[in-house]
Amino acid sequence: MKLLEDRILNEGEVLKGNVLKVDGFLNHQIDPELMKLLGDEFARLFKDSNITKILTIEVSGIAPSLFAGMALNVPVVFARKHKSITMDNNQFSTTVHSYTKNITSKITVSKNYLQENDNVLIIDDFLANGQAGLGLIEICKQAKANVKGLGIVIEKSFQPGRQLIEETGTRVESLARIESFMDGKIIFKGE
Ligand code: 5GP
Repeated sequence: MKLLEDRILNEGEVLKGNVLKVDGFLNHQIDPELMKLLGDEFARLFKDSNITKILTIEVSGIAPSLFAGMALNVPVVFARKHKSITMDNNQFSTTVHSYTKNITSKITVSKNYLQENDNVLIIDDFLANGQAGLGLIEICKQAKANVKGLGIVIEKSFQPGRQLIEETGTRVESLARIESFMDGKIIFKGE
């Protein structure tokens, strides 16, 4: 998506450890207009998949997911990374390791909001090592829901995430694909 690539080029900052900082529109301050365009694009890509639910993970997956949910007219569920005081034990859960933060966290989704036969579109902000995506796929498996695809805002294609997710038979659609960070310069796939 050209508009997204331009925003990444203009505002993105490459930090050490191959981490891209896009706090100006996605991870801290959020640009609602851009989020709407991203959500609409996810909806367009998956319009023929009979999606009944969007599943994301807190926090940064929520904003684009909401607009995709609006466009597809389906509810949006986010996996929690922290136990909520309102949540009982009626939940699906798994662990996800974050290489960027070097922590392993338990993610949970209430059984009330993910049903057998749901057609799920999973959305997240970044795809790097694929662990968040795999965790969300595992949650869907526990629910016996059908994973129709993974929608990603920014994919770092030089990391193994896409391959790991595709090996599960899941369709991956990323709105921006970064081939490399060469000397701090952002190179997109196909350039
Ligand atoms: P994965 O599980 O695919 O390795 O990483 C997924 C999560 O790590 C994303 O949801 C995102 O929160 C975080 N992440 C991974 N790489 C980056 C990055 O380059 N920049 C930012 N801002 N977050 C990242």
